[in-house]
Amino acid sequence: MRALRLFGLQRSLLAGSEGLGPHLQRAGPRSATKGWSMLHTTTVDWKTKHRRYVLTPWSAGQAAHDVPVIVRGEGSRIYDADGQGYLDLSSGLVAANLGHAHPRMVAAIANQAQRICYVAPGLFSDVRAELGERLAALGPWPEGARALFTAGGAEANEDAVKLARAVTGRFKVLAAYRSFHGSTLGAATLTGEMRRWANEPGVPGVVHFFAPYPYRSPFGSLDAAGESARALAHLEEVISAENPRNIAALVLEPIVGSNGVIVYPEGYLAGVRAHCDRFGILLIFDEVMTGFGRTGAAFAGERFGVVPDLITFAKGVTSAYVPMGGALVRESLASYFDRRPFDQGHTYSGHPLAAAAGVAALEAYREEGLFERARSMETHLRTGLQRLASRHASIGEVRGIGAFFGVELVEDRASRAPLGFSRGDGAEVMGGFLRSLRRRGVYVFGRFNVVCIAPPLVVTGQELEEAFTSLDGALEELGASR
Ligand code: PLP
Repeated sequence: MRALRLFGLQRSLLAGSEGLGPHLQRAGPRSATKGWSMLHTTTVDWKTKHRRYVLTPWSAGQAAHDVPVIVRGEGSRIYDADGQGYLDLSSGLVAANLGHAHPRMVAAIANQAQRICYVAPGLFSDVRAELGERLAALGPWPEGARALFTAGGAEANEDAVKLARAVTGRFKVLAAYRSFHGSTLGAATLTGEMRRWANEPGVPGVVHFFAPYPYRSPFGSLDAAGESARALAHLEEVISAENPRNIAALVLEPIVGSNGVIVYPEGYLAGVRAHCDRFGILLIFDEVMTGFGRTGAAFAGERFGVVPDLITFAKGVTSAYVPMGGALVRESLASYFDRRPFDQGHTYSGHPLAAAAGVAALEAYREEGLFERARSMETHLRTGLQRLASRHASIGEVRGIGAFFGVELVEDRASRAPLGFSRGDGAEVMGGFLRSLRRRGVYVFGRFNVVCIAPPLVVTGQELEEAFTSLDGALEELGASR
């Protein structure tokens, strides 16, 4: 149970992504003041104010949480209150696929705000209908699809599960251990890792299984093909043991996101689809992180040639300019409700401002060819990161697809011990590494011992080279400090 041991170790790394250390050394105020002068006519200690009045999510302790105060963004860069710029190498939380202050987005949001910001979800809305049609066209189903809108990814997963339960009349749901599906009570129950623990016992009926992780196989396999076969055999056993006639749905990130950017070995997703077909289980792909070009396609399922029954989405649908999420539901399931009650919804379901941002984002993705761009960025990212791996022994593995890469840091390559784990100082090591990167002008999201490289799809080649140089410096510093 190597994987379980690993999860145990991860406890010490809770919220290890952000640092606890000294204030960043920054250059003095610069001219990066466009558009926020109203807020900044006086000198305010924003950090103190933030700590005093805001509970910051996912932090190891509010008092010591010390991160930059971000006040504006432009393209692939964000800027803090002192004018220091940071290359946004993770698109925030893998969300701002178009980068920041994209003129088309700003205009679309402003136009919609002038027209109407809110339409009750039970009424029809022109812009909501428009986005629904465009999303259905992006989906993989020849039969078409309808969108069930929410305000974020967690709600999307919860609503997808409720819909699956209603349609199948079954109640159990399968989800992978190494997964994150959101932070609300139901979505946290679906979540396989430690972010579930604080919410337990959660909602009934959720059962977890192990999915492949070739670099740290939970099945003791030696190669990707063996890992896929063993993981599928394990899943089949779990399904049988849980009584397939009670299982409504299986929820899966087609590429594991915040738990390490793990690309499943060939054949695994197709095998999961086959198991679901055999037992009448609905397959839900959680594409909250992987959707809208991140992997070089509208949805990651497309890259693996696997079609789910529902796709949950958020983040990239509006490039995170306005909160929105939802589930794309294949037409044959959506039409189930044509003559039956559909008993769910939210005040903000299909919020017009978000819908307008969604339409604009999809237009920008298409006109600027950004899904294709992400696909072509794959080689640049892989080459650059592997070049770093050849220089730094602390990189155990570089893996990814499209514009979505993980760099797994280890104590040493032979043991593959996760960086910092053996001494129980993983959170501090990662926190220090991320601070070191910020000193070098790069913001990146890292969790446990994996750094997530997911730049805005508009990032330039030169900016990527800049990022590699900063990573090189931070890895050098990391190596020297161990
Ligand atoms: N699903 C996945 C795969 C995610 O990565 C996330 C958030 O990072 C969520 C769901 C939850 O989305 P939200 O934070 O919008 O609720």
